[in-house]
Amino acid sequence: MMGWSVGQLFARDLTANTVEVEMATVLAPTRAAWARVTFNTERAMSEREALFKKGLHCVGIWHIHPESSPSPSTEDRLLAREHALAARPQLAGIVFVIVGTAQPPAGLRVWVDDGVDLHEAISDEIKQ
Ligand SMILES: [Zn+2]
Repeated sequence: MMGWSVGQLFARDLTANTVEVEMATVLAPTRAAWARVTFNTERAMSEREALFKKGLHCVGIWHIHPESSPSPSTEDRLLAREHALAARPQLAGIVFVIVGTAQPPAGLRVWVDDGVDLHEAISDEIKQ
């Protein structure tokens, strides 16, 4: 099946009221199954180090689901939580994006995990 992708989201200014995601990267998935995403952590870390030198901070993760309006699997929730806790204290939360097969906004859903809860972002606030 085509379309399995996962990557990291990077932003330059973490102190702004609106943190703008400036770059989305693509990492090679190490394993692919329905609603499951894993990637090479070492590659993810070296990508973060390289982009940090350019002033970019990793603020989240995105991946693709083969469903029209995607929702996070149990493993996705665990992954988001793990990254949110690992990002402390620099980040109050991480952005977790799942891209489905429908056109945005229905097919693009965004959550923020603050280390306690996974909150869905309001889709009205998502701009192309
Ligand atoms: Zn998933």
